[in-house]
Amino acid sequence: MTQALFRDDAYRTETEATVMSSEARGVALDRTVFYPQGGGQSGDRGALIFEGRSPMAVVNTVYDVDRATILHVPADGAALPPPGARVIARIDWGLRFKRMRSHTALHLLSVVLPYPVTGGSVGDAEGRLDFDSGEAVLDKAEVERRLNELIALDAAVTHRWIADAELEANPGLIKTMSVKPPMGTGHVRLIAIEGLDLQPCGGTHVARTGEIGHASVTGIEKKGKINRRVRIALGAA
Ligand SMILES: [Zn+2]
Repeated sequence: MTQALFRDDAYRTETEATVMSSEARGVALDRTVFYPQGGGQSGDRGALIFEGRSPMAVVNTVYDVDRATILHVPADGAALPPPGARVIARIDWGLRFKRMRSHTALHLLSVVLPYPVTGGSVGDAEGRLDFDSGEAVLDKAEVERRLNELIALDAAVTHRWIADAELEANPGLIKTMSVKPPMGTGHVRLIAIEGLDLQPCGGTHVARTGEIGHASVTGIEKKGKINRRVRIALGAA
């Protein structure tokens, strides 16, 4: 399995690591800062840097079938580092930070719109959530105003680990019905936005909501009788 360093420090941009296996479908490392695609967030891009060769461009990051090994997907035709090699794994930080801002903004959107979440996607400085909002009328300008109010609070975003059993005893913590929280390893990560929100999440987030910057609500679409898709876009950091 791969030690997932981004879980405890999303701001870490690189690490030294050892290659465990190396194939065209992906290079497995013993530890990484690369976030693997999942929970509505895309896999990181970046590079593996190793001696004597050009860096290997990483075009995506995914979990292997065991859901414990993280695979760094090489660009077509890239030279792969051999098993046992020491490499520096470095993410495309500009891209990742946009996703951290979008992801955290979506947590705040779920505070503004406290309805069950049925789907979502974290884009690069944009994103969307689908809500079962029932008969509620969602006003675009009002949602945007409240979202930016929460961002401006500059609330601290922290995480802590709890046992699966504790989460099972508090099912109200789970807002996202379509994405099951990452359970099964005995513990699950809770993301807290100081005074605003608490939910299990495996993604990457900014440390304070002020880092999100200005958010616009770019669309509210009907996706069925009681379902609404709300899209947001962020300004420059
Ligand atoms: Zn999250």
